[in-house]
Amino acid sequence: LRSTGKLYPAESGTASHFSGTVLDITAHKLEEIRKNDFIAIVSHELKTPLTSLKGYLQLMRGRFDSSAAHSFFSTVSEKSLAQVEKMHSLVKGFLDVARLESAKLVLNLQPMRIDQLVLESAEEASLMYDQHEIIVEYCEPVEVMADRDKITQVLGNLLSNAIKYSPRGKIVSMSCKVIGTEVLVEVKDQGMGIKQHEISKVFDRFYRVETKHTTTISGFGIGLYLCAEIIKLHNGRIWVESKIGVGSSFFFSLPIGKVSP
Ligand code: ADP
Repeated sequence: LRSTGKLYPAESGTASHFSGTVLDITAHKLEEIRKNDFIAIVSHELKTPLTSLKGYLQLMRGRFDSSAAHSFFSTVSEKSLAQVEKMHSLVKGFLDVARLESAKLVLNLQPMRIDQLVLESAEEASLMYDQHEIIVEYCEPVEVMADRDKITQVLGNLLSNAIKYSPRGKIVSMSCKVIGTEVLVEVKDQGMGIKQHEISKVFDRFYRVETKHTTTISGFGIGLYLCAEIIKLHNGRIWVESKIGVGSSFFFSLPIGKVSP
């Protein structure tokens, strides 16, 4: 609590009464702590790929003359690329948060087939994450007015979370259904699930559920925040249904756009 005002002592010296305002700053403090944690994790996460990149590049120096230079170079460049991609997506996420804060995140709305994007995202995720089975259970053709890159980012975030928070070998399923004037997209996993009292918080900026599992899984608590902001900008809704030990279903809806032929 933060208070400003005056304390009036009684003749005995103990407080008699207080006049002023008392402000509950618990939420601010919590956000500040989360922000500090965030900065510490970010610095660490950026340092790790940078250190290994530096190592790979140092290794590469002076090896070009050897006969095995070609295969060596391709291994090293592949590893370097993976690290660079990791940093790239991190930095992109931070920039999006910064843009959201300054209200500079603008959408490039175009008519598009959301069902095709669901299929493409599932296909791409299957190539990237071969430890899980990614299936599209149901996919109804439907057009929406949306920012293709941003919706791709939302689907990518939901898929990577579904993978991150569920054990290897489990199924991640997607669907895309028309319900009334909306299209409903679902990303469902068979993972650890989220406790009921945490459900309302997972879309908060920098929020991460603390369990013995999640502390070993790297993340920054910005993915779902970005998803929620992007979907809100599209006049859609986003929510999650989850059961501990059974899995989670993340849903988002978008208004169906009238697209001229
Ligand atoms: P993070 O980078 O931590 O994954 P997100 O904003 O994407 O950040 O998610 C916020 C938190 O919500 C995560 O830290 C995790 O605790 C929880 N969460 C997100 N997706 C899932 C999921 N599919 N299953 C279980 N927990 C999840």
